[in-house]
Amino acid sequence: MTTTPLAAASVAQLEAEGVDTVIGTVVNPAGLTHAKAVPIRRTNTFVEPGLGASPSWHGFAIDQTGIAFTEDVGVIGDQRVRIDLSALRGIGDGLAWAPGSFFEQDGTPASACSRTTLRRVQAALETAGIQAAVGHEIEFVLVDSDGGRLPSTLWAQYGLVGVLEREAFVRDVIAAAASSGVGIEQLHPEYGANQFEISLAPLPPVAAADQLVLTRIIVGRAARRHGLRVSLSPVPFAGEVGSGAHQHFSLTRLEGPLFSGGAGVAGMTPAGESAIAGVLDGLPQAQGVLCGSIVSGLRMQPGNWAGAYACWGLENREAAVRFIQGREGKANFEVKIVDPSANPYFASAAVLGLALDGIQRNAALAPETAVDPAQLSDAEHQRRGIVSLTRSQPDIVAALDNSELLRSILGNAAVDMIAAVRRLEHERYGDLHPEQLADKFRMAWSL
Ligand code: GLU
Ligand code: MG
Repeated sequence: MTTTPLAAASVAQLEAEGVDTVIGTVVNPAGLTHAKAVPIRRTNTFVEPGLGASPSWHGFAIDQTGIAFTEDVGVIGDQRVRIDLSALRGIGDGLAWAPGSFFEQDGTPASACSRTTLRRVQAALETAGIQAAVGHEIEFVLVDSDGGRLPSTLWAQYGLVGVLEREAFVRDVIAAAASSGVGIEQLHPEYGANQFEISLAPLPPVAAADQLVLTRIIVGRAARRHGLRVSLSPVPFAGEVGSGAHQHFSLTRLEGPLFSGGAGVAGMTPAGESAIAGVLDGLPQAQGVLCGSIVSGLRMQPGNWAGAYACWGLENREAAVRFIQGREGKANFEVKIVDPSANPYFASAAVLGLALDGIQRNAALAPETAVDPAQLSDAEHQRRGIVSLTRSQPDIVAALDNSELLRSILGNAAVDMIAAVRRLEHERYGDLHPEQLADKFRMAWSL
């Protein structure tokens, strides 16, 4: 097999820097990150034809054993995971990493592949003359090496004390991110005890999701170096603060950004208003993609800043869509309901697909919600078109499964797989109490 000069150079360069092992990752519909590792001399094989993987990878469940088989995905067949050489980079200690995508043996992209799905949605936006950028946030809770609670005698919400207590870890994350080319914009202690947040620099959608995966790897490795682990559960401890995985979106056309400099509400252009309207209209159907795990409903409560009501508001942290005007040309909207159990590629694809749908049908944006929606009566919700998002996993899965719109955005194979893995969770664990659920799945998404 031949390689491009660029590819050969970068692999040779990594080898010269002492890299001996290349890890390729894929994220499945249940939000689990899977991997294969090769000696660096096998990098080009990992690029093409790729390494074999059973289609059942798409159906692996969060309980460490389950597989959600569907009509398309069973024990028969083999696909290929191919890494994207253009994203390959050293991550320290002799390791390099690259994001992977699924292909069929004949080289066509696998239809349930989340990275390919996002690439297709990104291309659809580009065909419509729109460039998208996505900025991810990561919230996580530090736990001990067995997944148990750490002491929090010294902790305050957003407190300096959290940075000082975990100073070595914090510096490790920032240094590793810098040397791997990850754009950390800020890192801070969050509201919950031992909870931290990292905001990542905006990038084109696929690159942004790749960057998020790499950041999770970096955070997980840094935690290990300090005898700690990271919970990426939406609710690590029942009844306590949840962790989100909010995504910020900005859209730009040749004429300029869609969310600033316009004559519409909050400086939006008409297309910007329609994009947000499209997202809001589709949120109840998209919950299964954005926050569909069996733990997700525990987080989706008013008062959690998780966006439990489908409405939008300027800097409104209780709205599912928070609009941020930002500095000149930096306006964006944040989808707050996304949590870390979601596959970030599918989540971005769903939101961007809904935004494009809104633009294409000139969807009308409801008036801003400028108060905490929980303080409004049901009658007022109805009058304003505010939807209280459900916490019921069966309802969430059914809404996705029955959504022609999400099926047209993500494809049938993707929707069927997402519904199947989430259904398995409910069938096996739907009768557990919140404490049991939080305990059982605290480390399910950890790296
Ligand atoms: N931890 C909250 C969540 O579960 C978000 C807090 C914030 O607004 O940053 O989404
Ligand atoms: Mg936060």
